[in-house]
Amino acid sequence: MADASILELKGLRAGYGEVQVLWGIDLSLRKGEITALIGSNGAGKTTLMRAVSGLIPVQSGSYRSEGEDLSRASAAHILSRGIVHVPEGRRLFGAMSIEDNLLMGAYSRTISSAETKREMDRVYTTFPKLRERRHQAAATLSGGEQQMCAIGRGLMSAPKLLMIDELSLGLSPLLVEQLVAALRSLNAEGMSILLVEQDVTIALDLCDSAFVMDMGRIVRTGSGPELLADPIIRDAYLGVLED
Ligand code: ATP
Repeated sequence: MADASILELKGLRAGYGEVQVLWGIDLSLRKGEITALIGSNGAGKTTLMRAVSGLIPVQSGSYRSEGEDLSRASAAHILSRGIVHVPEGRRLFGAMSIEDNLLMGAYSRTISSAETKREMDRVYTTFPKLRERRHQAAATLSGGEQQMCAIGRGLMSAPKLLMIDELSLGLSPLLVEQLVAALRSLNAEGMSILLVEQDVTIALDLCDSAFVMDMGRIVRTGSGPELLADPIIRDAYLGVLED
C-alpha cells in the first residue's frame, strides 16, 4: 500500500550539545495536507524543523519520509528528498537580488537552465510582486516581500514537504492574507506543508490537522476546528476564558 504519510517521526530526541530540547516526538504528517505546529515560545518547534532538515543531529529515535530513514542523513540529502525548510527570519542574502536569492534554492539540483526558468516563472506566478522587483536587492524589500522571497527560494528546491517557520511574524494582515492564499494554492496542487505559526487562529484556520507542543513534547493533536473548539487551547493560546 502507498505510504500515506510524507513524514513520520518516532521517539525523536534532539537538542543542542548537552541540552536536550525534544523529548521523544511521535508524529505523522499526511501527504497533501497542511499541518500546523503550535506551542508557546521555547516549546521546541524550530528545533523540530532543524532536526528534520538535518541542521542539528538526531540524538535518538528516527524519522522517515516515503519509506526512507533520514535520521542520519545529511542536510543536502534531506533537501534532495524534497524536505525544504523556510527558516524563521527568512535568512536571505541581503545584497543579492531577488532573482539570485531564488536561484540559490535551485543550486543543489541538477536541472537545465530551461527548467530553472520554468520553475522561477512558477514562483513569479505565485508571487507577482517578486517578478516586478526581481533585480532589486533582497535587503530593500519589505518584510512581507522578504517572506515571499524566502518561500520562493524554498519552492525552487522542489519541495514535497515545505516547512515554514513563523509565516506571519511582523507582517501586516493584508500580506498575511496573500501568503495564506499562496499556501492554499500550493497545497491544492498537492504540496504538503508544515507550518509553525504564532498566530494560532491563522494556523488552525489554515491547517487540516495540528499538533501542540509544550516543553519538547507533543501534548495535543486534532483537526483545526477541533483544536479551535478545545477549551484548553482557547484559554492557553487564544486568550479566551471559558465560563
Ligand atoms: P519560539 O517560538 O520562541 O521560536 P520554539 O518553540 O521554536 O520557540 P525553539 O526555538 O525550538 O522553540 O527553542 C527550544 C529551546 O531550545 C529553548 O529553550 C531555546 O532556548 C533552546 N535553543 C534554541 N536554539 C538553541 C541553540 N542554538 N543552542 C542552545 N539552545 C537553543
